[in-house]
Amino acid sequence: MLDLLIVGGGYVGLSVAVAVKQAAPHLTVEVIEAAPENAWKKDPRASAIIAAASKMLEVFGIWDRIEPEAQPITKMIVTDSRTSDPVRPVFLTFDGAVEEGRPFAHMIPNVAMVGALREVCEALGIRIRHGVRATGFRNLGPAAELTLSDGSVLSTRLVVACDGVRSKLRDMAGIKTVTWDYGQSGIVTTVEHERPHEGAAEEHFLPSGPFAILPLKGNRSSLVWTSARGRRPAGSADDSVRGGTGTPLQPQARPDPRDRRPAPFRSA
Ligand SMILES: Cc1cc2nc3c(=O)[nH]c(=O)nc-3n(C[C@H](O)[C@H](O)[C@H](O)COP(=O)(O)OP(=O)(O)OC[C@H]3O[C@@H](n4cnc5c(N)ncnc54)[C@H](O)[C@@H]3O)c2cc1C
Repeated sequence: MLDLLIVGGGYVGLSVAVAVKQAAPHLTVEVIEAAPENAWKKDPRASAIIAAASKMLEVFGIWDRIEPEAQPITKMIVTDSRTSDPVRPVFLTFDGAVEEGRPFAHMIPNVAMVGALREVCEALGIRIRHGVRATGFRNLGPAAELTLSDGSVLSTRLVVACDGVRSKLRDMAGIKTVTWDYGQSGIVTTVEHERPHEGAAEEHFLPSGPFAILPLKGNRSSLVWTSARGRRPAGSADDSVRGGTGTPLQPQARPDPRDRRPAPFRSA
């Protein structure tokens, strides 16, 4: 019987695995990941992490590996004005460092974070089973039994559900959630700037949905561009996403030639 079985090998599941195994090396820890072995390498997304999270990655011993890919966020502007408005009142700004040499947040490509977490899992002897999903779950009191899509059954003392926003395990455990549909959809992609972004991040909470531009290494930024479902983002011409006239992107940006894989997402 395992001590701990983590369902979901995203950065949350992997962080739980590393934290537990480092604190209690005698425990047997495994991770179940539905996606095939190398699927994570194709993830085009990037995530903003706050200073407490980079400190956690430092404690895991992997921050040195991630830092070369991590863009410090030097300034964050949050507003509900449009990028084209002549006067843009700001709700909230953050800047500076939480301590000497530690900015309040970083932007990190998911590939860098998940890759480093996977390396440390391997070094700690944490098995990651790929291409199998948890399909059934039984609570037997002191243990739990998990059925996998390949028909195998695993017993464990503790199951941790890290299977994402639409967690099947949460449903199987009867944990209720309240959800509603914002009627929005959008694109997530990477753009390259013509002028230095200087580590600035902007989030515009527009009536049609949020628009965020978050700095990455290499003078690029991660773009999250939401709009009411069925409409073009931010009421712009279709070519604006390619950097044409009327683009809401500020400072001037064009799609990054290294990333031509817009990732569709649904806000929830
Ligand atoms: C547009 C957008 C921008 C965002 N930006 C940020 C940001 O800047 N910073 C930030 O912190 N967060 C951000 N988030 C939120 C962030 O993406 C999530 O909080 C994060 O991905 C959650 O990680 P996770 O490991 O729990 O889930 P996921 O990354 O969804 O991983 C879940 C894993 O579980 C696996 N899985 C699912 N079901 C099963 C099953 N039955 N059996 C086995 N495996 C299974 C999946 O294959 C997947 O690998 C953003 C989200 C969106 C949509």
